[in-house]
Amino acid sequence: MKSKLPLLTLKRPTRGGSGRMGHCWIYRSQIDKMEGRPDPGGLVRVHSDKGYPVGVGYYNDRSEIVVRLLAYREEALPPGFIMARLKEAAEWRRRFVKDTNACRIVASEADGLPGLIVDLYDTTAVVQFLTLGMENLREEVLEGIRSTLEPEAIYERSDAPSRQIEGLEPRTGWIGNPGAAVVEVHEGRVRYRVHFEQGHKTGLYLDQRDNRMLLASLGLGRKALDVFCYEGGFGLHLALSGAKVVGIDAQADAIARAEENRRINGLTEAQLSFKTANAFDELKHLERSQERFDLVVLDPPSFVRKKDALEGAVSGYKELILRSMKLLQEGGFLAVFSCSYHMDEHLLLQTCMSAAWDTRKDLRLTRFLRQAQDHPIHPFVPETYYLKGYLFSVRSR
Ligand code: SAH
Repeated sequence: MKSKLPLLTLKRPTRGGSGRMGHCWIYRSQIDKMEGRPDPGGLVRVHSDKGYPVGVGYYNDRSEIVVRLLAYREEALPPGFIMARLKEAAEWRRRFVKDTNACRIVASEADGLPGLIVDLYDTTAVVQFLTLGMENLREEVLEGIRSTLEPEAIYERSDAPSRQIEGLEPRTGWIGNPGAAVVEVHEGRVRYRVHFEQGHKTGLYLDQRDNRMLLASLGLGRKALDVFCYEGGFGLHLALSGAKVVGIDAQADAIARAEENRRINGLTEAQLSFKTANAFDELKHLERSQERFDLVVLDPPSFVRKKDALEGAVSGYKELILRSMKLLQEGGFLAVFSCSYHMDEHLLLQTCMSAAWDTRKDLRLTRFLRQAQDHPIHPFVPETYYLKGYLFSVRSR
């Protein structure tokens, strides 16, 4: 018989402090004692202060999050566990994701597989191992991906900065037989060329899919500005639905790929033009040149990865929102997003109100916006709800 896993016993939960109910992360400060010596990234059992089995998770002493739980109320990882989770995750997408062949299959904690991202772009799977514990389960994960998704090729993009905290080097490249470095996928009417090696994340910002499709379907006006456009996302959708669009991004190579996407969608430069520029500067420039728009989309990167950077981020957001409002026609629309967990929906709304107040604008909240369905929200793990936004109609006061 296999010997038992090392045992970690939790302290008695304090109210509002450690022991967040049902969360899969266990912080160093929650630990009372450890029996046995876990390997870095190895599995441990976790018991409550009263000796009840909380679950099994993987351990890494280098991170403040010392354990990430995988299975609850278990004393060992059940056989076939990873495979079962992958199947469940894939099934969820089959039910809820429509009109595309590019989708997130595993969203880490939100799918009960902390530290693992799996995206499927047509027949190519792109995988990210973000933690040492998940890295240790690598072979089971790959076997699960092969049998659940049957991809033609698997590309690894384990180059997220968070790997450093885990004591891991970046790792990228094909696993097994190489596939095509660029594939074409579709999202509704829009086609994208996905570059696995150079793209952000695993290639696309899949989490904005529903919002891109929604905004294009609403017919919000003839002239739109797509700020932080990356490889064309919102702009492509809006232009295909008849708007004249300008897209802005600070990264020249993202703009080059946006132009490539414009071409394969049969759009002209008159319909959709792109500019490499810093958003803050370009918004000022547009204001001076008296350009006005019916719709501005503001989809900035996460300015706040850590809570202590929040204040600076809020003032950055406010400036962007304020400048965007000034560029709108009377009664025009602003779609504004935050993909940072710390800049939550309340703070984002307050920031929008504060910007509107300063520019003497009135807001009508037209739509609540959220991350797409293949990025599920797990209420017990609030960090899984990270992308939110608002669509406002903006008038003078
Ligand atoms: N809206 C896009 C995703 C945007 S991601 C989509 O739907 O696909 C955020 C983008 O902001 C990235 O492409 C990044 O290159 C860009 N970016 C970051 N800082 C910037 C800045 N100061 N000015 C302009 N773009 C910036």
